[in-house]
Amino acid sequence: MLEHLGSLPASLNSPSSGDPASAASLHNEHALWMQQVDITPFDFSYLGSLLQQAFADWQQQRSPAQDHAAMIFNVWNTEGVRVGDPYEDAVSMDVSLTVLRCLETGQEQTLRSSDQHGQFHLLALPLYSRSNKDMFAVFTALIYEPNPYETSEALVRSEASHYRTCFYRRFEYIFMTDLLHAHEQTAREEHRRSILFQIVQRMHDNMDVDTILDEVFGSMDYLYPTMRITLFMSQDQSSTNARIKPLLVHERGEDICVRSFMEGRLIVARSIDGENRITEVGLPLKGKQGIYGVFYIEMNDELMEESDLQLITMMADTAGTAFENAKLHEQSNMLIQELRLINDLTQRLNKSLQLMEIFQFAEQEMLGIFQAESCCILQLNDSTNQFEVMSSNVHQLTRQSFPNNYGIAGALYQSEEPLIMSNYRQHAQFPSQFMEQTKSLSLIASPVWVNGEVKCVIMLGHTQEQFFSYDNYRLLQMLVIHMGLALTNATLHAEVRRLANLDMLTGLYVRHYLDNVIHERQAHEFCGSLIVVDIDQFKQVNDTFGHQTGDQVLKQVSDIVVSSVRPEDICARWGGEELAIYMPQLGIRQALEYAETIRLRVSEETRPSVTVSSGIAEWSWMDEKVSVESLFYRADMALYQAKHGGRNRIVLEEQEVTR
Ligand code: GH3
Ligand code: MG
Ligand code: MG
Repeated sequence: MLEHLGSLPASLNSPSSGDPASAASLHNEHALWMQQVDITPFDFSYLGSLLQQAFADWQQQRSPAQDHAAMIFNVWNTEGVRVGDPYEDAVSMDVSLTVLRCLETGQEQTLRSSDQHGQFHLLALPLYSRSNKDMFAVFTALIYEPNPYETSEALVRSEASHYRTCFYRRFEYIFMTDLLHAHEQTAREEHRRSILFQIVQRMHDNMDVDTILDEVFGSMDYLYPTMRITLFMSQDQSSTNARIKPLLVHERGEDICVRSFMEGRLIVARSIDGENRITEVGLPLKGKQGIYGVFYIEMNDELMEESDLQLITMMADTAGTAFENAKLHEQSNMLIQELRLINDLTQRLNKSLQLMEIFQFAEQEMLGIFQAESCCILQLNDSTNQFEVMSSNVHQLTRQSFPNNYGIAGALYQSEEPLIMSNYRQHAQFPSQFMEQTKSLSLIASPVWVNGEVKCVIMLGHTQEQFFSYDNYRLLQMLVIHMGLALTNATLHAEVRRLANLDMLTGLYVRHYLDNVIHERQAHEFCGSLIVVDIDQFKQVNDTFGHQTGDQVLKQVSDIVVSSVRPEDICARWGGEELAIYMPQLGIRQALEYAETIRLRVSEETRPSVTVSSGIAEWSWMDEKVSVESLFYRADMALYQAKHGGRNRIVLEEQEVTR
């Protein structure tokens, strides 16, 4: 505590200066306490400079009148070494011995001797501590003649006492300085602790991961402006903060960060870089559930004390807990958000039972959810084994189709696994029109299961690399399940609808379906023809061969009808053994040719052989009245004519009459 001795302030050199009243009261207040303050033998080895400074103070304070040319004063420490004035002449052996004797006995000593200055008396006075227990120095005076020894002795005693006062004043000053220093240290420590407390509070008030990390950097910068600090994160933490970097274990090898991360503890390494001594610190960012990253701190050695390390560690601990809390909070928020999103999407997807609507809706939704730039949904066409683009915001891809082993869709179809790609140019294992056309680098893609089979593929792209997070990838996987369910629903619904429009026995459409089609066509097209086909004497077939054979004949006739007309023509079972064919955009004369083919083929191909009669009618947009009923009526009338005319024949409507 006595090692650093400051310069004595003026007020201590001249205690009488200033307001005497206030000085006196101050003195009274502290005098008692200060007088308790004392030195002990433990301090003796540090006393050297204190004794010296007290000697200087004493010399300065003595009035010139007190200066005795023929007297030499000195002070000796407990080792018997002179501290008063090191430049003075060498002292004679007998003087030294007398001082030693004084130190040994603790008693005053005198000596009568002489040196180059003449005859002298030596008076050696022990200086005792305040407690009067310990002798801490020896005060000596050489009293040369002609000074009378007897009168000089009293003077020496008063000088010794003055010196002792100077010594204690110096000692008190140092004691006070030390006390002040310790107080300052405490205050500083308290200040830092209050800052730490504020930091802790602010961190825990925050539930946002990025804000917490910014807070840590801000606090460290505030407390240690010269410190260089980087945070290496082990998980993908998308941050705009340049001081947050990914911790790449394989690249950094066994360095301090990796070790600190692996061992989950503070690691300090000190090194010398030219003139500077550098301290490197690896400090884990950890919570109760795991270690999330490592702070890497670099600073000049002299700035890093043990207490600083403690403070930084405490801050990192707080940051770790706060980070973990925020992360958990963020995760549960995300989960809630995801559930909401899924619920929403499912509800809206299921509103539609139209496949195309679902594809378009899914495309729009996915673009929004993932902030993707491009989206493409493809569906597998089982008959061609090609993936067909069903919906995409990339116009070059509209209505395109690709073999089921091509590109990303092909890969997903083969692997039945979703895919995430951070940089297509670096990691592409296959060519992709989607990635090329959109110049995308990032991709998330997934197969879509319909009825347990991969029937569709969805791809989302972005031109920025590493755009999609692992969470995005996971969410997509969830969403495609629901998209698949909606598609399954819509497919089943379409199938039910199709079945409802088909006749079970013949496989032809049912009457009301045909009615609807004709009605719709009449609203948009220019003309069309309707052939009504009726099996001749069918009742007899039933009667002769039985109903089952009758059914088979009906089926044979149906097949002949379907295979005799164009793909766009719609064949229906009109009722009983009566069939109808609607031929869009075809005039009655051309329809006649098809009817004739049917008539011929039926008579030749059916077993047991039957014949058919047909009536044909047509409509045109120029007709006064266009209706399904009128068309059927006219065709039916023609059929009636055919029956009446002897069967196995075709009759065209009587245009003059019916119109
Ligand atoms: P026409 O030459 O005048 O048409 O004589 P037809 O016997 O064919 O006509 P009719 O209207 O008198 O009889 C139709 C018969 O067709 C009556 C019915 O038993 C039979 N039929 C209707 N639908 C079916 C069917 O789905 N299966 C079978 N096996 N017979 C049917
Ligand atoms: Mg018939
Ligand atoms: Mg009939």
